Amino acid sequence: MAYDPRGVRFVLTAPDTESTEQGFSPWKQMVYASVPAQFAPRFLYKKMLAQQTYPDGTAVVMPYGLRIAEAILLEEYPREDVAVCHPDQLDLFVGPRTRAVGVSAHNPIGTAFSTGVYSNIFGSSARPINAYESERIFFHPAIRKYRPKVIVGGAGAWQIEKTGSMERLGVDCVVIGRGERVILELFERADAGEELPPVVHAPEPALEDLRVPLRRSTFGIVEMTRGCGRQCAFCSPTLETRISIPPEQLLEAVRANVREGGRIIFAVSEDIFIYGASAPFYIPNADALVNFYEKVASVPGVDYVPLSHATLAPAVVNPHLIKELSKILLPKSVLRNPRSTYPGNRILSPLIGIETGSPRLAAMTMSGKALPFDIRDWQEIVVEGTNILNENHWFPVYTFIVGLPNETDDDIKQSLELLKRLRKNKVIYVPSIFTPLEDTRMASGRALKPRELTRLQWEFILTAWKQSRELGVVNESSNWLWKAGMFAFYYLRGRWVHGPQFRYPAMRFAGIPEHRLRGHLYLDLSDTTPPPPARPPRLVAKHRSSTLEELARLQDGQPFSVYGTTRVEGASPFRVVGQA
Ligand code: SF4
Repeated sequence: MAYDPRGVRFVLTAPDTESTEQGFSPWKQMVYASVPAQFAPRFLYKKMLAQQTYPDGTAVVMPYGLRIAEAILLEEYPREDVAVCHPDQLDLFVGPRTRAVGVSAHNPIGTAFSTGVYSNIFGSSARPINAYESERIFFHPAIRKYRPKVIVGGAGAWQIEKTGSMERLGVDCVVIGRGERVILELFERADAGEELPPVVHAPEPALEDLRVPLRRSTFGIVEMTRGCGRQCAFCSPTLETRISIPPEQLLEAVRANVREGGRIIFAVSEDIFIYGASAPFYIPNADALVNFYEKVASVPGVDYVPLSHATLAPAVVNPHLIKELSKILLPKSVLRNPRSTYPGNRILSPLIGIETGSPRLAAMTMSGKALPFDIRDWQEIVVEGTNILNENHWFPVYTFIVGLPNETDDDIKQSLELLKRLRKNKVIYVPSIFTPLEDTRMASGRALKPRELTRLQWEFILTAWKQSRELGVVNESSNWLWKAGMFAFYYLRGRWVHGPQFRYPAMRFAGIPEHRLRGHLYLDLSDTTPPPPARPPRLVAKHRSSTLEELARLQDGQPFSVYGTTRVEGASPFRVVGQA
């Protein structure tokens, strides 16, 4: 459509690193959140971020959150008053008539939970590429010239407030939390020329406020659930009410994505296994899940259906469900690994939070993650669950948190033992350094600086990376380059930035033979004795009289539970179950 050349009333945009669908792999975005911008000049990656636009200059693909903001504004304003565009097209839409620019920000400062360790490993001042790309928006000449109100939302908006960067970036208002209930009012106030509150802590949207946007979103994201309920102490999504979006609504969004040229549908969730589950929510509703994925995968035009976040305990409860999902989703997977025996070497890679190998620390911070099993058997759940996933060609991505409050050397040693037990499994590890998130039970915790990491913590991080490299870097010459790169990094920079505790862990990653590292590191990887098999994990007291088959059937034949279950606030009820 033709927009006013004097500028559009409201313009919505996002850094290119957030809207790219590069390789149809959501995990590739992590590279932009990890590599420091100072080592990656823009001309090197610019082409890979090239964005599709419609003839009028608006964006074809945009992050899901921005599509929600667009849908809300379009309920009150005509189409010509709302333009959604990439940063390179801001010139076309921002002008004297523009009242507000809404920016989606995932990692605007570079302090996101999972990215700190990757950029900080190069030095404490390193800023990842996606933070650099966010700044390209804030310092865009058109925004600086016409000074519309700049409203920032998205998962990383809090970073701007926390780091006191509002003035430097020219941001007028930061929206923290889901914006459904505040977006319209803020843009209306900007339209009226009013001052905006610098920080808005948005209340959680009521069910009737939820929107499922019918425009194409990055990776065809549709939100299948909100909230979680397992109540991990460091986690913010679990503070939200747990809901599942009805399949009819989701399918409408899927079809809308396909209509606008999308080939991938990424149904996102904090835990796919809670979709459609009634009480107890931690027992998956196999019917609801299989039906949902079957319907999505059979929409004509949908070529790829990746898996989102998940928890591991449901795989142990119901391995048959993993098999059924594999039948539907493996043919629709874009991911491949030569160690997969599935035709075309296809794999599925859900992101799963393991966080620690220490049952003691797990019981203190995330006892609900193991349900219906007892958290004291956390390692057994992880080993058994990983075996089940691998048997079905799922090569999961496991996150670990180093430096959780109260973590001791013994906890890290147990995490290292777990890595050793999983050595023959097919897993990609993403260790990160603990970052306290607002409103969580660990909000007052402290994030370690890389210089403060102990040798054991570095050993965990670099052993995890080594095992990931052995699985993920399939080309021999790239594997060699990674090793040589670590060697060079250690001697040129790492030993000064991270101190002597970095040395031997870095040498392990660089491929120095294990027998030469013996005595310097905790794990002896030259010892090739096979690890003990997993013991069957114990169920929590409440379920101890049931068999796993009975548990797996708990949701069987139940009507699809849509808008969720109870709101769980404050203390975790699951801890009580675990202690009983
Ligand atoms: S399992 Fe834990 S970390 Fe994951 S979403 Fe649920 S509460 Fe958060």
